[in-house]
Amino acid sequence: MNGMLTAHGKRWNWGASALLTAFVMTVPTLVILLGGSTGTPVVWVRTAMAGLRQGPDDFSFPYTRTTHDRLHGGLLVAGFDQESCHSRYQSAMYRRNPGRQPSEYLVSKLRRHEALQRRCGPGTAAYSSAVEQLKSGKNAASSPECRYLVSVSYRGLGNRILAAASAFLYALLTDRVLLVDPSNEMGELFCEPFPDTTWLLPWSFPLWNFGFDTPERYGKMRENGVLRTSPVAAAEMPAFAYIHLDYNHTDYDQLFFCDDDQRLLSSFQWLVMRTDSYIVPGLFFVKSFQEELDMLFPEREAVFHHLGRYLFHPTNHVWGLITRYYRANLAWAQRRVGIQVRVFPWEPESPELLDRITKCTQEEGLLPGLMGTEEPAVTVTTTAAAAATAPGAKSSAVVITSLKAWYYEQMKGMYWENATANGEVVVVNQPSHEEYQHYGVKSHEYKAWAEIYLLSLTDMLVTTGKSTFGYVAQGLAGLRPWVLLKQANGTAGHRHGWCRRDLSLEPCFHIAPSYDCKRRHDSGEIVPHVRHCEDVPTGLKLVD
Ligand code: GDP
Repeated sequence: MNGMLTAHGKRWNWGASALLTAFVMTVPTLVILLGGSTGTPVVWVRTAMAGLRQGPDDFSFPYTRTTHDRLHGGLLVAGFDQESCHSRYQSAMYRRNPGRQPSEYLVSKLRRHEALQRRCGPGTAAYSSAVEQLKSGKNAASSPECRYLVSVSYRGLGNRILAAASAFLYALLTDRVLLVDPSNEMGELFCEPFPDTTWLLPWSFPLWNFGFDTPERYGKMRENGVLRTSPVAAAEMPAFAYIHLDYNHTDYDQLFFCDDDQRLLSSFQWLVMRTDSYIVPGLFFVKSFQEELDMLFPEREAVFHHLGRYLFHPTNHVWGLITRYYRANLAWAQRRVGIQVRVFPWEPESPELLDRITKCTQEEGLLPGLMGTEEPAVTVTTTAAAAATAPGAKSSAVVITSLKAWYYEQMKGMYWENATANGEVVVVNQPSHEEYQHYGVKSHEYKAWAEIYLLSLTDMLVTTGKSTFGYVAQGLAGLRPWVLLKQANGTAGHRHGWCRRDLSLEPCFHIAPSYDCKRRHDSGEIVPHVRHCEDVPTGLKLVD
């Protein structure tokens, strides 16, 4: 299939792409915005002669923009020290898809929230006094100006990112200061999102272990009557409530998504939340949040897209991994395709899954099909350099991410050993194959974050259903991916074709409530924009 689909579901227009290339190569004087690997982005004015020098060693073409919006429509605030976090203002130059526009209301809410984080964050008198209050074992008597939400970090990187984004939205909605547990390299992977303060919970914080048996677990306190939704004096309440939304939560824990319980929770100065899920769709069930959510996110499917682009900026080391790989393997390509193959160490290599990936990418028009193997492949362009220089030739770079190398090796071999039916060049690469998930290993975490981010810089994405790693990539990219669905027994099912275009950019909330708070309606039918997910049928996701 020759026609391609764009990020917005329209046919991919090779004509327009070629036109853009022609424009870039012929306009006499071009303003080229080029991000160096370090330092501030610089503006270079280059001549047509320099612009004509296209090749694998010349990275100017993919960065060429007359303008780029380094602040993502006001989502980011200017004035951060650029040296301490190169990615924050450079990332826009690496994205072809500029992404969705944030609402003005979201932008102003973020500025107000940044001020709150500064006023009440670690190092302030307000923070010290709130910690003393916590140590006293009693909740603050009257409603204090500074209230806090601590987000516990655990599980894989995708889970941790979704949990932190969810906690941030809850903090925004309830005017709480968000503090993120710094465990699992959260401080080494992400730059600080809020200016002139830190979002990392100081190690001096008095409480660290939270789980099902924590006496202050909200569901437990509701179940045993320690807390009731009828009015209670704030000072008679415990010093904090622990919100447990892990796999073993009870129905009482899920009262968190109900109005009366949100009223009760608002009386606590300190909340601690432990989840590995994207709980955002559940927040849309709370009536008192709905109006605010509508104003913040008129496009429901762009919630994580905005939160993710606001919060998660790779630190300089990770940005180095991303930009070096990008320049070597993606920069020259006219089409960049990301394929996430989420496999587990115990799963054997699956020719069936490989076949599914191949059929999905070729039949959906993401990659060209192959010429019959018996036909001679003599007339086609065979190197990336030639592809980049031959007029009208098309070239694709594929980045595969996986814990295993096998799928990459097979695809790379396939496009090397066979010519493509239309003469396009396809170059396949994989940044790493770590074999299994490591815990507490910095280099492993760095690679995982770099790879999620690299997937998010592509033009088209294929992901593996149920994977939070893929959800983060699609959200940051602002792309609806083609999803490879697995059946319960782990084999790829063919019921719905080889892959399916996702309903929205949004991640799926895996362990979502099944019913509304009165237990009368299926949770996929309570509010218009929250539906069950295709990859996890009991889960919930936001759609437009
Ligand atoms: P999920 O388990 O698919 O939902 O994704 P998570 O990111 O939460 O957890 C999987 C973890 O396994 C990642 O964070 C990485 O540590 C590791 N991992 C899985 N797939 C890949 C991959 O393609 N590349 C790298 N570098 N690590 C991976």
